[in-house]
Amino acid sequence: MPTIKKTALVIGAGTGGYPCAIRLGQLGVDVMLVDKGEPGGVCLNVGCIPSKALISATKLAHKAQHASQMGISFPAPDVDMATMQTWKAGIVHKLTSGVAGLVKANGGELRKATAQFLGPKRVKLTYADGRADDIVEAEHIVIATGSLPIEIPGFPIDQKHIVDSTGALDLDHIPGEMIVIGGGYIGLELGQTFQRLGTKLTVIEGLDRILASLDKDLASLVARQIKADGGEIITGARAKGVVERDGRRFVTIDVGGTEREVPADVVLVAVGRRPITGGLSLDKAGIKLDDKGFIVVDNRMQTNVKGVYPLAMWWDSRCSRTSRRTKPKLRLRSSRARKRSTMRGLSPRSCSPNQRSPWPG
Ligand SMILES: Cc1cc2nc3c(=O)[nH]c(=O)nc-3n(C[C@H](O)[C@H](O)[C@H](O)COP(=O)(O)OP(=O)(O)OC[C@H]3O[C@@H](n4cnc5c(N)ncnc54)[C@H](O)[C@@H]3O)c2cc1C
Repeated sequence: MPTIKKTALVIGAGTGGYPCAIRLGQLGVDVMLVDKGEPGGVCLNVGCIPSKALISATKLAHKAQHASQMGISFPAPDVDMATMQTWKAGIVHKLTSGVAGLVKANGGELRKATAQFLGPKRVKLTYADGRADDIVEAEHIVIATGSLPIEIPGFPIDQKHIVDSTGALDLDHIPGEMIVIGGGYIGLELGQTFQRLGTKLTVIEGLDRILASLDKDLASLVARQIKADGGEIITGARAKGVVERDGRRFVTIDVGGTEREVPADVVLVAVGRRPITGGLSLDKAGIKLDDKGFIVVDNRMQTNVKGVYPLAMWWDSRCSRTSRRTKPKLRLRSSRARKRSTMRGLSPRSCSPNQRSPWPG
């Protein structure tokens, strides 16, 4: 197997990995960026960008339907989901191909391959098209492999009737009734997207309110809008399972010890995300994990293996989102020159169920 020598290797071309590789390229570092999927990771392919595209389109329809109070009346919108999905896919494609171009333009090399550690600074690249594996040896390695939706017992994802966020973003029809399990920002953004098109939305949340990490006043604005659009929010509820009867799904929920069934055409499971832990063979690199499977890092976000850095999703005892775009740059600067430590402090976050809501988190 041929061995490729690089100064830096970034594994994962999401919003954490690709800006990191671009910045390294700008700093004159010989860098390779590897991803098993399309560049842009979750955010560009199945997260922020496609969701915001659908949100903006459905807000337009919603606004038009509620404009009569401003003295402007439109006929009910005629929504063609297939066209909307094609439009969304075009936006995603434009952005992901832009990432590939940016990496190249800044001197980096992008490869589509699955990476797996063979040793502390040795990584095997396996290509889906069947060409021979490569070995990369790099002085610095950034692990930016991101996360996957969490699945819960009783709700096997089929991406048709029981979907995660990826499946919800690809629905080719407007469901009559949708249940969202999990009142976090991802479930609500997607639930409200379909609600604006006429779907009857029910949100099942285990805690006593939705958007628990968001300011209470901002969260109550979202709850008010869901109810104003005919939706229901059931808090303090645990979703136990789903059964099919006469072509419909019925979700059993437990609210304070009392069981109840809620009907749905589509059930969206949006209870959080977990770091991708499998497949990288971190043990072969000798990288230490904590008991929850997160990578243990020092105050410069370096693993116990010198020169190997995970991005925020992987840090022990915490996950963060938007911060990933800025933290890699800080880390790389610190590793190359300034040797300064990086604080794991608050970072800006935002979500956009009905209005964009920023908060520190
Ligand atoms: C529906 C939805 C909406 C969202 N909206 C927002 C928003 O509005 N604002 C916001 O800030 N965040 C949002 N997020 C979160 C945001 O998408 C993530 O925080 C972000 O994508 C994380 O970036 P990342 O680079 O850490 O990981 P990812 O984007 O998950 O990228 C990791 C990459 O690593 C690759 N990979 C994994 N394992 C390997 C391997 N062994 N070899 C090679 N490649 C590998 C994967 O293919 C993937 O491309 C949203 C998420 C979802 C699901």
